[in-house]
Amino acid sequence: MSHSFTRREILAAFLGVPAALAACSSRQKLPPLPPGEIVGASDYIGHRIRDGLNISLSQDRSERFRVVIVGGGVAGLSAARRLVNAGIEDFVLLELEQAPGGTARSGTSPLVPYPWGAHYLPAPMSANEPLISLLEEMGIIEGRDDDGEPIIAEQFLCRDPEERVFYRGRWYEGLYLNAGASAEDAAQLSAFNAEVSRLVAWRDSRGRRAFSIPVASGTDDDEITALDRMTMSEWLDRRGLQSERLRWLIDYGCRDDYGLTIDQTSAWAGFFYFCSRVERPGGEARPLITWPEGNGRLVSYLYGKVKSKVRLGLAAAEIIPTDTGGERGVDVIAVDHEGSNPVRFQANFVIFAAPHFLSSYVIRSYRDNPPAHVAEFQYGAWMVANLFLKDRPRDRGFPLAWDNVLYESPSLGYVVATHQRGLDRGPTVFTYYYPLCDADPRQARSKLLEAGRDEWADVALTDLSRAHPEIRTLVERLDVMRWGHAMIRPRPGFVWSDSRKTASKPYRGVHFAHTDLSGVPLFEEAFYHGTRAADEIGAKL
Ligand SMILES: Cc1cc2nc3c(=O)[nH]c(=O)nc-3n(C[C@H](O)[C@H](O)[C@H](O)COP(=O)(O)OP(=O)(O)OC[C@H]3O[C@@H](n4cnc5c(N)ncnc54)[C@H](O)[C@@H]3O)c2cc1C
Repeated sequence: MSHSFTRREILAAFLGVPAALAACSSRQKLPPLPPGEIVGASDYIGHRIRDGLNISLSQDRSERFRVVIVGGGVAGLSAARRLVNAGIEDFVLLELEQAPGGTARSGTSPLVPYPWGAHYLPAPMSANEPLISLLEEMGIIEGRDDDGEPIIAEQFLCRDPEERVFYRGRWYEGLYLNAGASAEDAAQLSAFNAEVSRLVAWRDSRGRRAFSIPVASGTDDDEITALDRMTMSEWLDRRGLQSERLRWLIDYGCRDDYGLTIDQTSAWAGFFYFCSRVERPGGEARPLITWPEGNGRLVSYLYGKVKSKVRLGLAAAEIIPTDTGGERGVDVIAVDHEGSNPVRFQANFVIFAAPHFLSSYVIRSYRDNPPAHVAEFQYGAWMVANLFLKDRPRDRGFPLAWDNVLYESPSLGYVVATHQRGLDRGPTVFTYYYPLCDADPRQARSKLLEAGRDEWADVALTDLSRAHPEIRTLVERLDVMRWGHAMIRPRPGFVWSDSRKTASKPYRGVHFAHTDLSGVPLFEEAFYHGTRAADEIGAKL
């Protein structure tokens, strides 16, 4: 991209024409970009596997385990924890990256660790016992309240102030732009909140909630799943809800959780975001649990429990169900970062905890004859940048919060790694999030990968300079992560499709586990599928 496009064109492509014109018309000489690099994710080996590796295997490189887990993200690590807890020790986990955690991994600096992807977990409700037991094990839950809901230890709850929004020259508290809202805006916000309350109170004939975490514990009643047949903006249009600031709030929620705009998100997924974390009608959403490194803390804990079983830097290139002599069998051929040094793992079962779309490149029979349901799994692309600042920028209006959002930007703004540590002055790390919401996910991925570190650094700094004009003089380093298949896209028709149901069923000895099987990208869903797949196998061993 850098060779054929001007700076103005690149900024226009990512930040819009007015922002690009404003940035390029200034006569002020910009300071040079800070140093930095592109970190992971390893698309090289992924693309080699997709294009077909020519593997020649020597006889002596073979190992036997009862279970092989493919993928060391939250789902794979949760499956491993569950196997260990069930007393099943004869397994190995293969992770293609040199670090565990997948999209929940984090980085470290002398000052503070920081996230590269997932950065918070809403406190679970009492019904989610398996997740509560993980958090109890970690010492995060210190008791139950009178309703039996878990009480989260204070130090793990997101510190105040939690969020603020920048609009036309100053910061405001919260995400909904109250300043300047008309009586009609307020009425439309109330109408939307009333619908959220109605859906929070809703129960089906079996007593299940309309929207529950994990998704599998909620209703499949048509009254609710019918929402999956329209976009969030179609639903708002039908209700005559046109308030710009209300639509912005909902659009922000969809971009934040799904990397999709309200014109692209299934209304089911939109309401899932607003309802699933609210216990009772009119109540607040569950509080957020977070750490400086975001969900990297959960990853470190899970990894610590199963470290001896994990092989980093080994990618499953081929999975071959064998099923000989009436006994379940699956071979996994794994290769290193270069696509070399193949090893054969022979197992009774495989837990495939990598994104589902990869199954049609890796499982031999899927590769030869790709099942239709796999093609329905579509993923959005995201860029995440970590900015290392020598000092805080000056602010107008509401002070620096954990989550800092720019109303007029296609980015999601930034979270502050030092916030949770109570360090409110001096050096810090900002984690900046940019979802590529293009209609065609393939086009989004090419845009993501065509822009290099310098182009992305310029986009992030130009965007943030709307609120922090002096940002370029404060940032000493800026690293970039390009997530090509960052998260599953819950577009209309996908969450309640047969494709999603089919994908969750085992195929011969291969059991699937990944957050994408829920149709929404969340820690809780990845944890649920990892735990479920381990239980399915545990029952057969
Ligand atoms: C930018 C961003 C922000 C997010 N923010 C949040 C948040 O704040 N809260 C939240 O709950 N969720 C968030 N998420 C969603 C997050 O994806 C989930 O919470 C969860 O971490 C997904 O875990 P997973 O194990 O299902 O998948 P992944 O994270 O995709 O893990 C899959 C693993 O499989 C590995 N793998 C792939 N192919 C192979 C192979 N052939 N062989 C071996 N290994 C392989 C990958 O390297 C990866 O480690 C965010 C995601 C992104 C991208």
